[in-house]
Amino acid sequence: MNTEHVKSLIIGSGPAGYTAAIYLSRANLAPVLYEGLAPGGQLTTTTEVENFPGYPDGINGPDLMEDLKKQAQKFGTDVRFGVVTNVDFSARPFKVTVDGSKEIEAETVIVATGATAKYLGLESENRYKGMGVSACATCDGFFFRKKDVIVVGGGDTACEEANYLSSICNKVYMVVRKPYLRASKAMQERVMNRPNIEILFGYNTKEVLGDDTGVTGALIVNDKGEEKVINAEGFFLAIGHQPNTELFKGFLELDDEGYIVTKPGTSITNIPGIFAAGDVRDRNYKQAITAAGSGCIAAIDCERYILSL
Ligand code: NDP
Repeated sequence: MNTEHVKSLIIGSGPAGYTAAIYLSRANLAPVLYEGLAPGGQLTTTTEVENFPGYPDGINGPDLMEDLKKQAQKFGTDVRFGVVTNVDFSARPFKVTVDGSKEIEAETVIVATGATAKYLGLESENRYKGMGVSACATCDGFFFRKKDVIVVGGGDTACEEANYLSSICNKVYMVVRKPYLRASKAMQERVMNRPNIEILFGYNTKEVLGDDTGVTGALIVNDKGEEKVINAEGFFLAIGHQPNTELFKGFLELDDEGYIVTKPGTSITNIPGIFAAGDVRDRNYKQAITAAGSGCIAAIDCERYILSL
């Protein structure tokens, strides 16, 4: 196998990875960044971002990520297309395999692999994935123009997706398992004020219904065991995320939900020389700006570590 030695390797290309890259490249540490399975991360599946400071008129998620990438490249980050498929963090230099074939030896690693949308785990949900079942309204909403759709979840993501879909679709049913929404007040008001969004409180999905053409609806059930069929062609999940840490199990300390544990107020993991930034270590905030901030912290921690060697 062909082995390359690098001073600092960044895994992931969301706001955390790119911000770490901007800082490390400006510090002349020539970082190599692997973009991973979803170049640009979760913001590439968003439309308008209105809460990233510096954009008074808002910016499109993909445009924001493209700007961050250009900024990282401008200072010398080597941004590469490729997926990290294996790691060995048992000794320094750390060994990282990319696309199953290329081996990198890294003095330091910043893990910024983010988080991925969760599914309910129903067999019927799996059967109709890509045939009406989706976890990304902004990616797939277009296919359900003027049709009826279901959004599962009661958090900010669910409200944002329901709101987005309500501008494209005929009707949006929100299936919320609690008797209230967990989303922020502003998001709650938006969905409550949309005439074509109907919120079904206290319901869980028992089955995604469908036929050869794809999803035809869902069978939902409430706490009293009362069942209801909703007819819809799209079934969107918005029930939270799973941190992308599978590769690091056995090396990095993870919490009970799989998020990387870092020393409070820093990006420092249980292994000196490995740092974590962004949603992969953040079960609370998960904002582009907090991810970017933690990417900055990781770069500074990493730089100090290299200087101490
Ligand atoms: P959340 O964890 O906040 O919400 C998940 C929702 O899905 C909850 O309503 C939860 O119900 C429900 N849920 C979870 N599991 C199931 C299940 N198995 N069956 C049915 N329902 C389920 O995740 P979000 O992705 O919405 O948000 C994550 C973070 O990102 C939050 O901090 C949020 O504020 C932030 N965010 C901010 C945005 C913005 O500011 N523009 C946009 C999007 C997200 P229950 O309440 O019962 O647990």
